[in-house]
Amino acid sequence: MPALRIDGRAVAARVLADVKNRAATFAAAKGRPPGLAVVLVGEDPASQVYVRNKGREAEAAGFRSEQHTLPVTTGEAELLALVGKLNADPGIDGILVQLPLPKGIDTDRVLLAIDPAKDVDGFHPINVGLLGSGAAEKALVPCTPAGSVILIENVLGPSLAGKHAVVVGRSNIVGKPVAQLLLQRDATVTIAHSRTADLPALCRTADILVAAVGRPEMIRGDWVKPGAVVVDVGINRIPAPEKGEGKTRLVGDVATEEAAVHAAAITPVPGGVGPMTIALLMANTLVAAHLREGLPRPA
Ligand code: NDP
Repeated sequence: MPALRIDGRAVAARVLADVKNRAATFAAAKGRPPGLAVVLVGEDPASQVYVRNKGREAEAAGFRSEQHTLPVTTGEAELLALVGKLNADPGIDGILVQLPLPKGIDTDRVLLAIDPAKDVDGFHPINVGLLGSGAAEKALVPCTPAGSVILIENVLGPSLAGKHAVVVGRSNIVGKPVAQLLLQRDATVTIAHSRTADLPALCRTADILVAAVGRPEMIRGDWVKPGAVVVDVGINRIPAPEKGEGKTRLVGDVATEEAAVHAAAITPVPGGVGPMTIALLMANTLVAAHLREGLPRPA
């Protein structure tokens, strides 16, 4: 049986439709829509695309959407002043500072300055701590990990008891929070990284295999246990001479076609985890709006 291709675009569209409905209910109850402010410093082309897409989705969800674009020469004090202003703005529920920041700005200091109640990226140590201490229902959880786990739940259901999950990658923005979320759903979790011995053998023990490495197609088909659910977080641009000179294409961290021979279900790249990230940003803004207004957290 060929693996099920998990359609991240379809799942993300369902999440966004639900957010839009709930945002309308919130606005009717509170007399204002949820508000999201996205801050971009500099002119990194990829960041500009991400920020534009986030603004578009926020508007489509019925949010108040603000974009603050600052020149690359902006100093840390100026950026911190903007964050302070957004923290104090009662109509803004979510603040996202697009990373990476230009050299000379201390990223940690900026992320620490964001009010944890408005930290829709989930990178503030308060939110990291709430997630790590098992109080995720009070936390704002990073978007890509939360979206990855929703895709897994769509295949396996909410309880992952008895399953062995292997997460390849231990970054603060993907690997570690994915591992926390899987642990919370009762999976038995192993986190692997660049110093792990015999990674292929470890991956072969995974009922759930999450790849967040940043190395094109590193995880091969014969690393995948028959029947596993494979979530490929990686986004890598590689040369595609077959499409013409200088052309490129996107691939994940998993050799998808090889892995699909063994897996029960697998996320494609593109069209898997990617669309979930932006959908979960909108969901996080809605959650932040509810919690800030003392309303129950939307499910
Ligand atoms: P990082 O570079 O921060 O982390 C990569 C991790 O992979 C590290 O823990 C590293 O180990 C590990 N690693 C690197 N090489 C190997 C190897 N040969 N064997 C085993 N482990 C290895 O990356 P991110 O977590 O930020 O991102 C991972 C991928 O996810 C990237 O492709 C990125 O583009 C993508 N991504 C996708 C998003 C989406 O929206 N879909 C959002 C965010 C990221 P060590 O710690 O030992 O160095």
